[in-house]
Amino acid sequence: MDVPIRMDDGHLKVFIGYRVQHNGVRGPAKGGIRYHPNVDIDEVRALAEAMTWKTAVVNIPFGGAKGGVTCDPSQMSMKELEKLTRKFTSRIHLILGPYRDVPAPDVNTNAQVMTWLFDEYSSAHGYTPACCTGKPIDLGGSLGREQATGRGVSFMVREAAKDMGLELAKLRVCVQGFGNVGSNAALLVQSLGCKIVGISDVKGGIYRASGLPVADVLAHMKKTGSVGGFPGADSVTNEELLESDCDVLIPAALECVLHGGNAARVRAKLIVEGANLPTTPSADEVFQKRGVVVVPDILANAGGVTCSYFEWAQNLQQTFWEEDHVNRELDKIMVKAYRTVADRAQVEQVQLRTAAYSVAVERVARAEKLRGT
Ligand code: NAD
Repeated sequence: MDVPIRMDDGHLKVFIGYRVQHNGVRGPAKGGIRYHPNVDIDEVRALAEAMTWKTAVVNIPFGGAKGGVTCDPSQMSMKELEKLTRKFTSRIHLILGPYRDVPAPDVNTNAQVMTWLFDEYSSAHGYTPACCTGKPIDLGGSLGREQATGRGVSFMVREAAKDMGLELAKLRVCVQGFGNVGSNAALLVQSLGCKIVGISDVKGGIYRASGLPVADVLAHMKKTGSVGGFPGADSVTNEELLESDCDVLIPAALECVLHGGNAARVRAKLIVEGANLPTTPSADEVFQKRGVVVVPDILANAGGVTCSYFEWAQNLQQTFWEEDHVNRELDKIMVKAYRTVADRAQVEQVQLRTAAYSVAVERVARAEKLRGT
């Protein structure tokens, strides 16, 4: 749809926005809104579908949706971003709502964008904090949301290692991407007793066989803008990091980084997909042949949407959970989902990815059948 706004210099600019609801049979459609120059209808459709399987695999009462506006937020002022968000919300508010479709932040959107969306929605429908998630704590956001995706990734490392008979204290872990997912996953996996030996960001990576102090690397990154140059560590490229000596690899940056060209050289025996779609189908085939275990994105990074479900539930009940309660509930849901998927993989002798899709599609199909749609 067209989203026209008056820019700061006075000219009228028409942006294109999308909201796709892929499936709502198990609950309100759920999914983020991204602001990026590459947003188009095909991308939004594909991401909306992925949300349907993600919410189904962790068995939370949501469907799948995604939205986006084709724009470059780095070239826009706060005032322009607010106008864009309010106008976009006013264009789609009739198809949103706590029981219809519940947006969340995604690439280049954040708690501030959700606040504008919540405010605009509430001015049309009355005070409705459950209309979106990822809000600031002061406006009904949930404690623990910031860390939730990384925390979920760390639970998956713990569970998969247990199944594989690997001792956490002996595991050497590499993490690609040191943003929200990568940094929290690294901190939490380290707190399980594992050694983080490699970390990278968009500018490059670092490796130290004796282990990296993750909190210090984070402080270094905040100060210098990159993990590069961390004292006492070797510099590696992002490509080298993926192939470096480790037991567990956590891709937590971009899609398609593990592909037919490098899969045979990946040395990790366990890959936990923090990012969405980091593994291409040809890499997946190689990993299967080599016996590398891959915990798939729709399960591994579902901690964020699971915590969004907690936020929505707290808002509907006008209540507020303590952080340790949030973390305990997250643990319960993620472990149950992992167990269901791992058991299915065992019974059907398939990879975890196939098992995860099989569990998710089955749940959605069963709900469709029961509802008679
Ligand atoms: P972010 O923007 O906070 O961090 C991204 C990180 O990746 C940064 O460290 C950045 O430097 C690095 N990066 C960017 N381009 C890179 C490149 N070319 N090579 C190597 N590193 C690069 O993003 P995030 O929220 O941590 O999300 C990371 C991934 O996880 C994305 O695929 C996202 O879709 C997925 N994901 C995020 C969440 C969440 O709750 N944030 C939930 C589910 C999935």
